[in-house]
Amino acid sequence: MAETKTLALTNARIATMRRGGAPYGAIENAAILIEDGRIAWVGPTGEAPGAEETADLGGRWVTPGLIDCHTHIVHGGNRAREFELRLEGASYEEIARAGGGILSTVTATRAASVDELVASALPRLDHLLAEGVTTIEIKSGYGLDLETEVKMLQAARRLGAERDVEVQASLLAAHAVPPEFKGDPDGYVRLVTDQIIPAVRKAGLADAVDGFCEGIAFSPDQIRRVFEKASGVDLPVKLHAEQLSDLKGAVLAAQFNALSADHLEYLQEDGVRAMAAAGTVAVLLPGAFYTLREKQLPPVDLFRRHGIPIAIATDCNPGSSPVTSLLLMLNMAATLFRLTPEEALAGVTRNAARALGLADEIGTVQCGRRADLAIFDIETPAELAYRCGFNPLFAVLREGRWRKW
Ligand SMILES: [Zn+2]
Repeated sequence: MAETKTLALTNARIATMRRGGAPYGAIENAAILIEDGRIAWVGPTGEAPGAEETADLGGRWVTPGLIDCHTHIVHGGNRAREFELRLEGASYEEIARAGGGILSTVTATRAASVDELVASALPRLDHLLAEGVTTIEIKSGYGLDLETEVKMLQAARRLGAERDVEVQASLLAAHAVPPEFKGDPDGYVRLVTDQIIPAVRKAGLADAVDGFCEGIAFSPDQIRRVFEKASGVDLPVKLHAEQLSDLKGAVLAAQFNALSADHLEYLQEDGVRAMAAAGTVAVLLPGAFYTLREKQLPPVDLFRRHGIPIAIATDCNPGSSPVTSLLLMLNMAATLFRLTPEEALAGVTRNAARALGLADEIGTVQCGRRADLAIFDIETPAELAYRCGFNPLFAVLREGRWRKW
């Protein structure tokens, strides 16, 4: 048993990211008391209770540990050649139809061992951790068969053991139709519902089930079957929806009380209303929007009007978002999607926690929450979105302990 130790962080400025009150939920000249890995007290430095250990932060800013709530960081190979092709004029859909795109990563991922998947993902993960990420969601979806989907989720769990980070794993077997089922997507959906979901559930390898609802992937009817199975085994769902067209994927996701619907550039107001009623988070992925040079903006004003929480993530993947900087996503969310810096920061803290079903644990600095904290050398929280390609991280606390690098 580790002994109980209290740690006081004093002389801090805290972006608590709690709603209401000051912008960013900010508290100046503040202190945080940490006990048993949790936040036990937050308030003015002068009133801070005594602690066994004290760290004077010299006026630095403390935020909730950053949360990347949508990644495909585990994968074999890379797609630099596809990047070249796209620059030569091919579209995402043309590349997918030509057997490139996701399927080229499927081939590389099937050929890799768990060890190799972990080894190739670690440098990418380390980039994210170096910016203050303390929780990351990792999807499968490049196996598209039972063995490789399981292998990817095992690699995701291993990453959480190899590094000081919380990993939430999502089963994304319904990502693309594998070559063996070409022309028979319903046959593949049966494999997903009858074999892959039950096996992954039994092994405890996934925290959620995801899907890709799109003309180049699965229809709403097919996704419905996947979601019915997931709900039947008590796994929450989320969905890649309305990225390239409006198939009403978000409406479907909301019917299953999805944690989040992600991408959403082509979402219409009916989908926004459905998400609002279900409490589904809108996860925006500016890295994919940027990489694909999309023109259609996600309906940010509608999200605001309907009070939908907006999260931001890297979508780190080898094809459409080879991005390993969450801070850069803050900048792109502001510059491309016109989010305010405060909305952008909420998107990688409070709202990202909600997109993972972890809103009661992480994402805000307040009593009772886990002491996952990022400390930045900045003058104002707006700097996190303002700068581009700059990392002002000073230190990280994970479950109340200083993260060792
Ligand atoms: Zn994705």
